[in-house]
Amino acid sequence: STPILEIKDLHVSFKTYAGEVQAVRGVNLQLEKGETLAIVGESGSGKSVTAQSMMRLIPSPPGKIKKGEILFDGKDLTKISDKEMYQIRGSEIGMIFQDPMTSLNPTMTVGKQIMEGLMWHQRLNKNEAQHRAIEMLRLVGIPTPEKRVKQFPHQFSGGMRQRAMIAISLACNPKILIADEPTTALDVTIQAQILELMRDLQIKTETAIILITHDLGVVAETAQRVAVMYGGKIVETGKVEEVFYRSRHPYTWGLMGSMPRLDIERDEELSPIPGSPPDLFDPPKGCPFADRCPHAMHICHDEMPEVTEVIPGSHQVACWLEHSEAPSVGRGTMQVN
Ligand code: SF4
Ligand code: MG
Repeated sequence: STPILEIKDLHVSFKTYAGEVQAVRGVNLQLEKGETLAIVGESGSGKSVTAQSMMRLIPSPPGKIKKGEILFDGKDLTKISDKEMYQIRGSEIGMIFQDPMTSLNPTMTVGKQIMEGLMWHQRLNKNEAQHRAIEMLRLVGIPTPEKRVKQFPHQFSGGMRQRAMIAISLACNPKILIADEPTTALDVTIQAQILELMRDLQIKTETAIILITHDLGVVAETAQRVAVMYGGKIVETGKVEEVFYRSRHPYTWGLMGSMPRLDIERDEELSPIPGSPPDLFDPPKGCPFADRCPHAMHICHDEMPEVTEVIPGSHQVACWLEHSEAPSVGRGTMQVN
């Protein structure tokens, strides 16, 4: 099937006083209709920058999309006008963030914030929009929506605010929802409820979701496919069960080894592997993981491995261990638990 969104060779950089950070370095991704694709990686791996690029929310300057295409509905989102992008944002592509308080308007009722998009993008009149706002609040599990619709964000609890944010972003029936760490700020019980809500809504609305997270438990519970990012590149992509149970990239093996148990509290960033991520002011020319990889060979430091199809069209990995001409040391799969 044709993907609903396709990213081709995306490069994004940020200028700083200390030089240029190459945050995203040649990302290729496809999102299929109605699926949840998780992008996982440590802080600074480029996952949020990739998501922000899709919404054209990279602060520019200092940020810049240097190269690549983001194809949505026959359009390249890196090339369309600000006005066209404004129309797509919020109506065709919605977004929810880690902290809803920073994206909700504190001076406007929650109802008005849901109604705005409906009146602007869908040209509903005030009554219709209010009706739909109440319906949306009910859909995301907010009790007494007729009363809540007239309240301000500070009158909502953290979990309720994230539900309200989801209501706002889904009100116009977007084709894609980008969720950047949507549950990280919430406590474990509320996290589980929000994830369940997202799963339910996805079945009802068939919205494709891009879920950015550092939490593999969240991926396991929510996504069908996963892309693992490291050093501004995607190192492994596949179905969740392929990447979790038959991973082929040493960085993914490290991540899996650090996977916390699902039944205990998880709020720590992934940083289980000795060493630190590559310097993106001066990125390595070879594999970004070479300095930390227990299986690194000479070629790993010199040349970036090409993407190998482990399962054609389904499971891809960028590692020299998978290359037919590389030595077969350390080859294997990693089992969780
Ligand atoms: Fe390790 Fe080399 Fe594979 Fe990179 S390409 S993950 S350094 S074996
Ligand atoms: Mg982030």
